[in-house]
Amino acid sequence: MVIIMLGAQGTGKGTVAGLISEQTKLPQISTGDIFRLNISEKTELGIEADKYISQGNLVPDEITVPMVANRLQEKDAEDGAILDGFPRTIEQAKSLDEILKKSGKKVNLVINLSTPREEIIDRMLTRRICSNPECKLIYNTKLHPPKVEGICDRCGAPLKQREDDLDPVVINKRLETYETQTAPLVEYYKEKGVLRTETVSMSINRMGKDVAEDIINNVLKK
Ligand code: ADP
Ligand code: ZN
Repeated sequence: MVIIMLGAQGTGKGTVAGLISEQTKLPQISTGDIFRLNISEKTELGIEADKYISQGNLVPDEITVPMVANRLQEKDAEDGAILDGFPRTIEQAKSLDEILKKSGKKVNLVINLSTPREEIIDRMLTRRICSNPECKLIYNTKLHPPKVEGICDRCGAPLKQREDDLDPVVINKRLETYETQTAPLVEYYKEKGVLRTETVSMSINRMGKDVAEDIINNVLKK
């Protein structure tokens, strides 16, 4: 089963993907996490990708698509995966269809998370992630803070803010990139009949974990 997480920044894609991954045992493949790991390890790929990421632009397909194709070939993705942050353009979606076809797979479900714009910016500014690359649990200082300030509940490592969440200019650029390049994917997957749109918002008291539970119980277990 191949599941795609769609939705703007800060809507909770990583949180939902992580919870579904725990339940289904499908690996969560986050392109943002792979890039950040490469940046912190100063690999060639990381140094190149950072030129784009630090500006809020998409990393070019020549780098991103083969990286995902290779990751999908790893043993743990034999039965599928939860893709978090890929595809982000129609071109990438078409490449993904090709990649999956080669191993007899297809996109089975696209979870499209939608959050009001005014909440999104706040969620990005209050987002914290566990600095332990094995854990990477996501927190929010307002919505779901850790038990001890600045420390991960799960592994005890310090929490940090992502570089690209620190600068309002970069935040706005990323949201703009989402609107122009990624939002058209909603239509693309709607036409394929695999789209499921879910609202995540404080205003209706529905958070990522509620969406994940709903999908696990009402979509995946059926
Ligand atoms: P966010 O959803 O908050 O932007 P991600 O962790 O998904 O965060 O991605 C961080 C950055 O990594 C993006 O702003 C972009 O520069 C780059 N990136 C991630 N996924 C892709 C992708 N599929 N194609 C191109 N660039 C990507
Ligand atoms: Zn942790």
